[in-house]
Amino acid sequence: MSSPDKCSCKEAFAKLDDYLCRELTPEEIARLEQHLCECINCANAYKFEGQMLECVKKKIEQIALPTDLRERVRAALDACKE
Ligand SMILES: [Zn+2]
Repeated sequence: MSSPDKCSCKEAFAKLDDYLCRELTPEEIARLEQHLCECINCANAYKFEGQMLECVKKKIEQIALPTDLRERVRAALDACKE
């Protein structure tokens, strides 16, 4: 695997449905959130989905994430909302 901690725009969007409809692993969620904060294209697209961010926040509350990862995801979400 190349670039294990980055996902492309294409991959990010491909995962969007999974993100909302199915369980992703904490690692996949973290990668997706990281991509959103690094990629203006995807971040802008996601900003139109304000409710999605709230949905994601609820999801991460439900998933038993390691505390440090949970904090990273939450920080990423907060950064994206700015
Ligand atoms: Zn992107």
